[in-house]
Amino acid sequence: MKAEIIAVGTELLLGEITNTTTPYVARELAQLGIDVYHQSVVGDNQARLTEALQQATTRSDLIILTGGLGPTKDDLTKQTVAQYLNEPLVIDQPAMAQIEAFYQQRQRQMTANNRVQAMLPAHATPLENPAGMAVGAFYQTANQAYLLLPGPPHELIAMFKKAARPVLQAYCQAAHVLVSRVLRFHGIGESQLVTTLSELIAQQTNPTIAPYAKPHEVTLRLTATATTTATAAQLLAATTAQILALVGDYYYGEGEDNSLVQVVVAQLKQQHLTITAAESLTAGMFQSTLADVSGASTVFNGGFVTYSLAEKAHLLNIPTADLEAHGVVSAETAIAMASHSKHLLNADIGMGFTGVAGPNELEGQPAGTVYIGVALPNQTPFAKCYHFSGDRASVREQAVLMGLDLLYH
Ligand code: ATP
Ligand code: MG
Repeated sequence: MKAEIIAVGTELLLGEITNTTTPYVARELAQLGIDVYHQSVVGDNQARLTEALQQATTRSDLIILTGGLGPTKDDLTKQTVAQYLNEPLVIDQPAMAQIEAFYQQRQRQMTANNRVQAMLPAHATPLENPAGMAVGAFYQTANQAYLLLPGPPHELIAMFKKAARPVLQAYCQAAHVLVSRVLRFHGIGESQLVTTLSELIAQQTNPTIAPYAKPHEVTLRLTATATTTATAAQLLAATTAQILALVGDYYYGEGEDNSLVQVVVAQLKQQHLTITAAESLTAGMFQSTLADVSGASTVFNGGFVTYSLAEKAHLLNIPTADLEAHGVVSAETAIAMASHSKHLLNADIGMGFTGVAGPNELEGQPAGTVYIGVALPNQTPFAKCYHFSGDRASVREQAVLMGLDLLYH
């Protein structure tokens, strides 16, 4: 929570009196775990006080004003705040009774001005003044809280102890909402992501940024604390923008359970495209991954597992001579697998996976070499070559994820 203190009083501004209450309030807030980000002094001037309130509202959650609660003409904190909040000033009956009793006891005539001391913005919580007449106030809006305290130090301290501190304690407890957002990245390792964002991660306290690596995927969890969900969302949005400016190329989506395959299936659905695949080294894993998403049947009708050269020829109608000429682990074969499967099942998109899962090399190509063919609607099919590291299981997983990545846009 970001707090700021505005001390109101022309004598403070001119240096005629020393501001002792701002440091007092700041120390008290620190003890409550509330961070003070700004302190300022404003003269007894409605326009400038309104300006100070406007500025404070843009940057602080808790705005504390001291001084100007009294009965004289230059005391205009309550009036200014009420006007700023669009609230009428209303009389607080207990405070009024206290003032009346005071004047009755001393057999003195009460003036209209004295009534002002018992007034506060409608919907504000009155704060009892054990050492004086002017009632204090605590007012909450959707995004801010305003605390109005009297100027004289003995009054302010007494009110703080008796009334303001408990109100703030309750406010702190109720006000802390925790909102998080998960950003998902693929095609960038955790260490590279963290290195690129290291400065941002180090500086950032609200929201915090926590990287989390899953196999071949990295997520960043941003967690913001704020007084309201809206403020937390704003904080998250600002930091997300900073992150995406640096590593946006690898970003594919958001959400706790939103894996790459979910995003890709959702995109295909949205575009009314169907997909199929012919898989060698992944032996159906890509298709099985697609089918993990509920509702995948709207985009996926079936496909091929063609592990051996013979089945690539037999099931996919790829000429054996071509397979032998280019090799099974080749761009040409990956492209042929993609376009033949697409054609055979009359799908919009065909994918071909061929490669060396390992641990042994194949056709003179090292383990981890993978070609992924992609046949998209109205485009010349193409293939990409990858050299994945890791064991057999990991190479196959990476091939599947990279296939999804090639489809994501
Ligand atoms: P009052 O009812 O006495 O008028 P108020 O809430 O209207 O109280 P001010 O009129 O702003 O407060 O200030 C009253 C007196 O309190 C000042 O003349 C000064 O002596 C003291 N005071 C106000 N603000 C501060 C401050 N920030 N630090 C120390 N003393 C202060
Ligand atoms: Mg005064």
